[in-house]
Amino acid sequence: MYYVPDETEKCGFYECSSCDARFLDVRIAPSLVCPYCGETPDMEIGPDEDMPKVSETAKLQKMLEGDEVERYDTLLSLAITGGNYDWL
Ligand SMILES: [Zn+2]
Repeated sequence: MYYVPDETEKCGFYECSSCDARFLDVRIAPSLVCPYCGETPDMEIGPDEDMPKVSETAKLQKMLEGDEVERYDTLLSLAITGGNYDWL
């Protein structure tokens, strides 16, 4: 398993509306902070300024259960190495 631990029985399939990354996460939520583009620290921010607003750009596309978890994990891993999302 690439995105989620072995034996994961349920996870979410997410797609980022900002960078188009697709990934699985064991956290199930309508949206998540994108692990690829969502947590870049803003070095311009000063100590007296508000924390930069965290935007949850990764949206839940589909809930995966059972065999789907491993299937999507494998396919997404291959898609990354092959750079090809056509299977979707
Ligand atoms: Zn992103």
